[in-house]
Amino acid sequence: MTHENTAPSRRVAVVGAGITGPLLSLCLARLGFEVDLYEAYVRRAQDVGSFLNLAPNGRAVLERLGLADRILEQGVVATSIDFTNHKGRELVQNPERTTNIMRGELSGALRESATDSGVKLHTAKRLVALDETGDGRWRIGFEDGTHAEADIVLGCDGVNSAVRSLLLPDAPRPAYTEVVGSGGRSEIGTGELPVDGRFHMVFGLRGFFGYQVVSPGVVWWFENHQEVRERTFGELAEIDDARWVAGLADRHRPDPAVVRRILNASAGPVGRWPVHEVPPLDTWHRGSAGVLGDAAHAVAPHLGAGAALGLEDAYELALALHEHPSTARAFTAFEESRRGRVTAMAKQARQTGAVMTPDRWITRVIRDLMLPMAIKQGVRKGTEAYSYRPSPWPLTGA
Ligand SMILES: Cc1cc2nc3c(=O)[nH]c(=O)nc-3n(C[C@H](O)[C@H](O)[C@H](O)COP(=O)(O)OP(=O)(O)OC[C@H]3O[C@@H](n4cnc5c(N)ncnc54)[C@H](O)[C@@H]3O)c2cc1C
Repeated sequence: MTHENTAPSRRVAVVGAGITGPLLSLCLARLGFEVDLYEAYVRRAQDVGSFLNLAPNGRAVLERLGLADRILEQGVVATSIDFTNHKGRELVQNPERTTNIMRGELSGALRESATDSGVKLHTAKRLVALDETGDGRWRIGFEDGTHAEADIVLGCDGVNSAVRSLLLPDAPRPAYTEVVGSGGRSEIGTGELPVDGRFHMVFGLRGFFGYQVVSPGVVWWFENHQEVRERTFGELAEIDDARWVAGLADRHRPDPAVVRRILNASAGPVGRWPVHEVPPLDTWHRGSAGVLGDAAHAVAPHLGAGAALGLEDAYELALALHEHPSTARAFTAFEESRRGRVTAMAKQARQTGAVMTPDRWITRVIRDLMLPMAIKQGVRKGTEAYSYRPSPWPLTGA
């Protein structure tokens, strides 16, 4: 693959090296921009032990850039997503091929590819200030007292985005979804569960459980349940792993025995998070600075769509900045092309969440009656969501 650098040299600061930020940096570097990528952490506690499911539309972006094999090397393909109810009855199978991958591995591989493309990565740099300098440039202040300047600032700093708060103070704040998520890895007897390539989803009575047997005796799992009172990330982290997992096993007592078997065999750290969402913003930019990915639209995780949406954003914004000499115009075109899609996905994620984690028994009864139909509809909509294909890459002919 060849890369010509034809865009005028503009210095870009990308803030946040989770998923959206490294891919955006990589795309911009390939298009000839000079890119500094700033990340608050060296290694994030939130990444420990947890995996995410990358939808086909996310993979399509990586494929278009010739990166899918390299980035997803540590991932495990799921040939279908199989839904069962709390009695173990099979409800529906979604035949889409997706990839489960540890969050830290995905982020790490994206960062590595970005630096290989010429991006300068700066870790332990938490943005705390953002000011226009008067000549159309930006001055960034970091928590450690240092500063940097850039022509364009792009906030990929996630649901609690500092760039969003500083740049667009009237934008909606993250709202707690009354859902707590957690995830980990378990070790069971070799051959106890088949390595069947399927991502299993169980609609439990008091929580939602997903798992895949990724190799003989090794299971990756996640769990979502409702908690009306919000506990902070710090409060959740203080709970001992064994106690947390025992609580989950108890919660899933009425559900198929396989759920408790996996939870009781938990090995290694268990990640857990209060889940927040940010509705898609009305405006994603001011002048030559803006936000994307979760910073612009943190959709509830029930669809497993956020990471893929962030990759789509990154790819499309890089192309828009390449095509439009005016950054503000590039942002306007980008927002127009993305708003409808992310708004529809956010709505669908919220509806799915209500089905996954019902709080009252009557809601549960209705859910169980409606579940097969609702899931079939969800699978159809999911297929629509997966159907995004990236615009052609301008320089490689890919
Ligand atoms: C419980 C749960 C399960 C999920 N499961 C899935 C799934 O299965 N599939 C899926 O596609 N999506 C899933 N998601 C959503 C997905 O994690 C997000 O959509 C995705 O991580 C967004 O990527 P991002 O790069 O925009 O933000 P993030 O991944 O949040 O990255 C933001 C980065 O910015 C850094 N940062 C933050 N503040 C600053 C600052 N001030 N200065 C510098 N750096 C900063 C952070 O440290 C981080 O590295 C899930 C989310 C949750 C909460």
